[in-house]
Amino acid sequence: MSENMNENMSEGARILLVEDDRHIRQFVASALESEGYRITTATSVREANLALGHNAPDLVVLDLGLPDRDGLEFIRDYRAWSATPILVLSARVLESEKVTALDVGADDYLTKPFGVSELLARVRAQLRRRQDWNEREQPLIRFGDFEIDCIGRVVRRAGESVHLTQIEYRLLLSLATHPGRVMTHRQLLAQVWGAEAVESHQYLRVYVGHLRQKIESEPARPRHILTESGVGYRFQP
Ligand code: CA
Repeated sequence: MSENMNENMSEGARILLVEDDRHIRQFVASALESEGYRITTATSVREANLALGHNAPDLVVLDLGLPDRDGLEFIRDYRAWSATPILVLSARVLESEKVTALDVGADDYLTKPFGVSELLARVRAQLRRRQDWNEREQPLIRFGDFEIDCIGRVVRRAGESVHLTQIEYRLLLSLATHPGRVMTHRQLLAQVWGAEAVESHQYLRVYVGHLRQKIESEPARPRHILTESGVGYRFQP
């Protein structure tokens, strides 16, 4: 594919910018708008989720330090149902935080302060990758008489909401977004608790037990969350 075609295809791409600092938000938004991108801004995780429910972006540019929830949590939740690239903007300089953001699903990382040309180069690179992906966005997941609303973060059984803790919700989402596939202990631990927990198999066993109590009609003989002995779990819709 020629350089020109790549440029044309990403023209007018929709970018969701999540940043609570007004000056940085304006700086980044005007830099991106000047390149012809269509920008939606959000100043919190709550606003970002509202924007996602309204319009699917081609790229999310995300600050990690947000007023209501940690940007890392946003990445974990969003990545469970969407492959849309995420470019993280952060003042955090610790290597471990950068690795955590990438492990939980961010695609690239810019440390503040950064220049316009560096920002635009990273955005172009992510949008080019996006063009290769044809994965469907699916904010509603259904199995049995259950429905997971990934935007509202609500699980319903036959229309009635089922109370799940944050961890149980993330675990169910990680499983349900990979129907029929064996998810390893390490993959699930990394998706639900973060990369630092990948050896903590005991957590996983305990929480799978909790989740089965809430989801399965017969928790001792699960139909949806099946054990793959010594490997992990398989979700059966
Ligand atoms: Ca911030």
